[in-house]
Amino acid sequence: MKGLMMDRPLLVSDIIDYAAEAHADGQIISMRCEGDRHEQTYSQARDRIVQLSLALEAMGIEMGDRVATLAWNGYRHFELYYAIQGIGAVCHTINPRLSAEQLTYIVGHAEDRVLFTDLTFVPLLEQLKDQLPKLTYVIMTDRAHMPQNSLDALCYEELLEGRPTDRDWPSFDENTAAGLCYTSGTTGDPKGTLYTHRSNVLHAMIVALVTSEAMNEQTRVMPVVPLFHVNAWGLPYTAPLVGAELVFPGPRLDGASLWEVMEAEAVTSAWGVPTIWMGLLNEIKKRGRKPEALAHMVVGGSAASRSLIEQFEKLGVEVNHAWGMTEMSPIGTIGTLPRKARAASFDERMALKVSQGRRVPFVAMKIVDEAGRRLPHDGQSQGELAVRAPTVMGGYFNNPEASRKAMDAEGWFVTGDIATISPDGFLQLRDRTKDLIKSGGEWISSIDLENAAEAHPKIAQCAAIAVPHPRWDERPVLIVVPKDPGDPPTLEEVNALLGGSFARWQLPDDIILVESLPMTATGKISKLTLRSLMQGYVLPELREAG
Ligand code: AMP
Repeated sequence: MKGLMMDRPLLVSDIIDYAAEAHADGQIISMRCEGDRHEQTYSQARDRIVQLSLALEAMGIEMGDRVATLAWNGYRHFELYYAIQGIGAVCHTINPRLSAEQLTYIVGHAEDRVLFTDLTFVPLLEQLKDQLPKLTYVIMTDRAHMPQNSLDALCYEELLEGRPTDRDWPSFDENTAAGLCYTSGTTGDPKGTLYTHRSNVLHAMIVALVTSEAMNEQTRVMPVVPLFHVNAWGLPYTAPLVGAELVFPGPRLDGASLWEVMEAEAVTSAWGVPTIWMGLLNEIKKRGRKPEALAHMVVGGSAASRSLIEQFEKLGVEVNHAWGMTEMSPIGTIGTLPRKARAASFDERMALKVSQGRRVPFVAMKIVDEAGRRLPHDGQSQGELAVRAPTVMGGYFNNPEASRKAMDAEGWFVTGDIATISPDGFLQLRDRTKDLIKSGGEWISSIDLENAAEAHPKIAQCAAIAVPHPRWDERPVLIVVPKDPGDPPTLEEVNALLGGSFARWQLPDDIILVESLPMTATGKISKLTLRSLMQGYVLPELREAG
């Protein structure tokens, strides 16, 4: 048919161009690794983004090339998002909390060409350099702060110096890859989700719609959720789009540091995992008040407890519990209340807020039984949750086998979460099919722990399970059948072995010795039975704390 609308692509570069014009003096404030505070406007950010994009082209970066980042939340990381994506290259954000093994795997699998790093991670990269593929390294600092290093690294600020501050961005298909983020929230090696310009722009608009009260030109938002965790939940795109100012907290994420930055910078909305907000809450208790301007908070990545939500709400902070996944850009649901619930009692409102909320526009959800049959949204029927949306991946990056397993026959992405959905659309997560533990918002693979631990000469069989923890949400515990009950392994012995392939925070907090493990009818260890047997168990650290 002729005479239709223009076929103009949805491109990320249009977001920063728009912000630089419409919200020119909107600020981006950053706590830097160098130890000081930095501020610039959206308009200044665009100038530097253009310079950086020209520097990338001068380095030979072309459409589709992967450029990696290993960095905290700060203005240079934000600039990298737009400069890399603006020229059609792919911004691959790496999670520095992964084990050295996973990190090396990811850089190799992504075939990164250049790696931009914060000062913090230079020693880590120096250690890994010989295991990593050949890369060009850039340290995200100025000449005065460049450390001695064995990476032959370039200096970020020197790359920008003297380059033009304006350009027309190239135009290309909106389905061009823009970002890459690996998740370890699956079994086996980490898997990559490749976001497109179209999915990023749509996600930005969706998040803007569902958080419009908290995200607009009158607000200042702090992404505590890292830029290396699924696009910091879309904030680097949504905030400039709506003109909300950004406050990047840098490397210090403890309650006291966050409280101080939020207070000094008048942060109105803050986004992060429950562990972070537990830390902030402790600081609020110590000081006797919340950061003055804080009025809104998004909590997600792990289940937020009713007590956490209630405590912030009582302080006058509107809390929105959100659920999402790396594979979903990430936001799938958010706990804003429907009109009729706003006048309900505090208790009724909190009961709704503790659920994972309702779906955001354009994200379709279904729950299915083991045979893949749809279950009713009656708040009772419990099934595996699957999703479909223009912001959900259609398959993992360069991994056909994992992609096949992740998608169902109708083309929906199967989440591995077990949930109910109420008649008015509230999602409630009940369990997960993935054999994983989520501690402080980061994944630990039970299967990997078990396989590695079973190599220990004193272990006949073992199972790793998650037990609840008030700060970290979940912590791993190893249930062990010793080879010789007279000479069982100690936690220290097992962790000495596991320390070779796991990060320290991934190691089990306790070992529980048993004579045998409960099995399912199909001969697998029954995690369900184990979890119910472990009900009432308290971690040693918490026992001591009383
Ligand atoms: P990731 O891809 O690392 O963001 O992990 C996504 C997974 O984290 C989901 O599939 C859930 O298992 C879990 N998750 C995310 N948000 C929540 C939430 N609000 N409540 C409970 N679990 C969550």
